[in-house]
Amino acid sequence: MAAIHLLDNETINKIAAGEVIENPRSIVKELIENSIDAGADEITVEIKNGGKSLIRITDNGKGIERDQVENAFKRHCTSKISSSDDLNSLLTLGFRGEALASIAAVSRVELITRTNDDIYGLKMKIDGGEIILKEDVGCPVGTTVAVTDLFYNVPARKKFLRSDTSESSNINEIVVSLALSKEYISFKYINNNYVAFRTPKTDNFINTISSLYEKDLYNSLLKVDYKGDVVSITGYTTNLNYYRGNRKQQVVFVNGRFIKHRRMSFFVEAAYNTLLPKNKYPACFLKIEIPPSLVDVNVHPAKTEIRFQNEEMVLNEVKRAVYSALHSINIMKE
Ligand code: ADP
Ligand code: MG
Repeated sequence: MAAIHLLDNETINKIAAGEVIENPRSIVKELIENSIDAGADEITVEIKNGGKSLIRITDNGKGIERDQVENAFKRHCTSKISSSDDLNSLLTLGFRGEALASIAAVSRVELITRTNDDIYGLKMKIDGGEIILKEDVGCPVGTTVAVTDLFYNVPARKKFLRSDTSESSNINEIVVSLALSKEYISFKYINNNYVAFRTPKTDNFINTISSLYEKDLYNSLLKVDYKGDVVSITGYTTNLNYYRGNRKQQVVFVNGRFIKHRRMSFFVEAAYNTLLPKNKYPACFLKIEIPPSLVDVNVHPAKTEIRFQNEEMVLNEVKRAVYSALHSINIMKE
C-alpha cells in the first residue's frame, strides 16, 4: 500500500477544477466576474462551438500587475479578501481565488494584460497549468483571457460536454444575467462570429432590459421599488398580459450577484396569486440589497447558491415587493 502523501499541485488543481469548472458556462461566468471585479465598463464575450473551442473575455478593467500575473493562476491566490472576516463585507464577486487556477488546469489559456502604470502589456500562455510562454506585448489597459481546448487533458470530462447548441444556450443565459446585473457596463456578446447582443452603458436598468428582450416583455414591465426594514428590492416584474411556460425570464440579484433560488420563484408567483393561467410564469428582474452579513454566499464554489440568515423574512419581502408593484396599477382593469 502506498504511504499517505500530499498530492502534487497539478492533481490538486484538476480535482478542484471539477467543482468550479463544470462546463463552458462556468468559465464564462468566472471570467466575466473577474472583469466586473476589475472595474471594467466594457466587456466583450466571445465564444465558438458552445465554448468548447473558444471562450474569450476582453475587458477594459484595471489589469493585472506584471509581477502578480503568475500568482493569479495559483490556487487560493486572490487580491479580494485577506481573511474570512472580509466575507462579511464582501463587495466583489470573486473571493475564493480558484477560478483561474482551475480553468488553466483543464484547458489552454492565453492571458494578455496591462495596467495603467505599464507601457507594455504581458502575454502568458498556460497549457494544462504549465506556463509555456511569457512575453511583452503592446495592448490597451485591461485584460483578455482566451480559453481553448476545454478539457483536452481530462477526457472523462470532455465526454460529458453537451452539444454546441445546448452549451451555447447555457452560456447565453449567464451572459444575459451578468449584463443585467451591471447596467453601467456595456456587454458585447459574440457567438460564432455573430454579434448576438450589445448592451448600452446606462444608469437606467430598463435600457439594459430593452436591449436584451423582445418588445412584448418590455411593454409589460411594472416597476418594483420597495424598501423594507433590512431589505430593499428594485427592478421590474411583468403585468398580467405577459407570461411564459418556464421560469427562464425570472432573474434575481442579491447585492449585485446573480443567484438561483427556487423558493424565491414560488414567492414571486404567490404575489400573482391565481391571476396568471395555470403553469404560466411571470418574468421578473429583481435586485435585492441586503446587509452582506445576513447572507452566506460561500455555500458552493459556483457561488450561485446563497443562504439567507432569515430566509422567510427575505422571501416574504420579495412577495410584498412584487405584490405592491402589481397593485400600483389597477390589475383588474381587463
Ligand atoms: P478570485 O476572483 O476569487 O480572486 P480568480 O482565480 O478568479 O480568483 O482570480 C485571481 C486573481 O487574479 C484575482 O483576485 C485578481 O486579482 C486577478 N484577476 C483575475 N482576472 C482579472 C481581470 N480580468 N482583471 C484584473 N485582475 C484579474
Ligand atoms: Mg474570480
